[in-house]
Amino acid sequence: MRELTIYRELANRIQARLNCINKGDHYWVRQHEECIESLKDLLPSGSGIDSEISIDLSNSTGEKIIIDSSFHAMNDGGYYDRWIDFSVTITPSLMRGISLKISGRFGKYQEIREYLFDIFDGSLRETVKEYYCRNCEVVYYRKREELHSCPVCGNKLQ
Ligand SMILES: [Zn+2]
Repeated sequence: MRELTIYRELANRIQARLNCINKGDHYWVRQHEECIESLKDLLPSGSGIDSEISIDLSNSTGEKIIIDSSFHAMNDGGYYDRWIDFSVTITPSLMRGISLKISGRFGKYQEIREYLFDIFDGSLRETVKEYYCRNCEVVYYRKREELHSCPVCGNKLQ
C-alpha cells in the first residue's frame, strides 16, 4: 500500500499514459486510464456539482490538468436556475504546490466560482491509499477505508 496525494497521482498517471502512447504500449495506456477513471471518482460531486465530471485527457499533461464539469445554480428563491459548465485548470505552483483556475460563465453567480475553487483545492490535496491486486492487475484507491483483500478475487493486497 502506498499513500498518495490525489493531484500528484493524477498528474503522474496522465503523464505516464502519454509516455505509453508514445511508446505504443497499449496495455499500460489502458492501465493508466483505468487508474485515472478511479481517481476521477474521488473528485467532488453532489451539492450542486454534476456527477458527470470528466478529465480532458487530450489537453492534459503531467504539468497541466483540465477537469470539466457543471454546476446546478440555485437562485435567491431557492429554485434551480441553470447549469453552469466550468473547467478546473490545475498547474504547478512553487509556493502552494498547485494553482487552480476555475473558468466558466458564472455571470451573477460569481460566489460559486469561489465555492468550486475551495472544494476542488481541498479535494485534490487529499491523500489516498493505493492498493494493487497482482491477480486482477487492478489498482484500487481508498480515502479512509482500509483494503486487506481484493474486492473481486479476494487475494491479499499489497
Ligand atoms: Zn483481485
